[in-house]
Amino acid sequence: MKTVRLGRTGLVVSKNGFGCLPIQRISDQEAAALLQRAYGSGVNFYDTARMYTDSENKLGLALSHVRDKIIIATKTEAVTPEHFWADLEESLRRLKTDYVDIYQFHNPSFCPKPGDGSGVYEAMLEAKRQGKVRHIGITNHRLAVAKQAIESGLYETLQFPFNYLATDQDMELVRLCKEKDMGFIAMKGMSGGLLNEARLSIAWMDQFENVEPIWGIQRPEELEEFLACMEEPVAMTEEIRGRIERDRAQLSGDFCRGCGYCMPCPAGIPINNAARMSLLIRRSPAAPYFTQEWQEKMARIDQCIHCNHCVSKCPYGLNTPDLLARNYQDYKEVLAGKPL
Ligand code: SF4
Ligand code: SF4
Repeated sequence: MKTVRLGRTGLVVSKNGFGCLPIQRISDQEAAALLQRAYGSGVNFYDTARMYTDSENKLGLALSHVRDKIIIATKTEAVTPEHFWADLEESLRRLKTDYVDIYQFHNPSFCPKPGDGSGVYEAMLEAKRQGKVRHIGITNHRLAVAKQAIESGLYETLQFPFNYLATDQDMELVRLCKEKDMGFIAMKGMSGGLLNEARLSIAWMDQFENVEPIWGIQRPEELEEFLACMEEPVAMTEEIRGRIERDRAQLSGDFCRGCGYCMPCPAGIPINNAARMSLLIRRSPAAPYFTQEWQEKMARIDQCIHCNHCVSKCPYGLNTPDLLARNYQDYKEVLAGKPL
């Protein structure tokens, strides 16, 4: 099985890691079965977060007996030292461990640094000194913050959205991380559900020796698909290259990645799906999006109060209300009979 060295952390992890966000949606038993099957098949990197409700508990329940054989990354959204320590202690308790291999600031709107007044980087250093944190990382969706983190020299890993729809600027981050000997952890390897064939994504990721993709896994069949691709690496053939190029052509430009950072919406609009509905109904089975429940959710778009909260929070700089209106118009037309 291929491995990746996570930059100057020196940690060597299986090329494909387990993203523990989706295990929030399944039972403890189902999560344990998935996590233990992954571990038994050679996956040794697990990424979770304090904000993923019970994801850390499930990881602790399933794999604490092999703690020294796995690498755990988790995250805190803390912007004060008090919150930082509360989160760290809670994560350690839930993970049933006394250290985190990589502790990451979770998508902060600024790049935490010593002396910035927040005190959180100092708290991180103290946690490292105490041995509760082995390596310091940061996750982000904003290019500017990611670049600052790389240039600061303060971080050992960067976690950033990265998949075969990557722009030149995203590619530049991977190159800079390599240059600075920082680990690069790729989230959103399937672009939040818009890319729907694991083997294309895995073949593409395999081209980057310093990139560690983490795949959000919820169902046994998803895990088996990834494990099969790991056991029998997928070659980057002309056929795969052509299909990637077709997806890139179809999904270029401003589109919603489904990250949900703009939510909640005061009008109750499920923005992370509603703002990309045109893509979802064309790239995945459409029927689940035309239920009465979904029609009602989409109708909330007419109740948008144009508060612009979503616009100010979207890390991709999208004009979300406009995107929602366009998606709703298309949705209504398809509902009325326009062919997909
Ligand atoms: S502008 Fe509209 S869609 Fe965006 S948060 Fe406000 S109400 Fe919701
Ligand atoms: S509109 Fe922006 S912030 Fe909201 S889900 Fe889409 S990409 Fe994420």
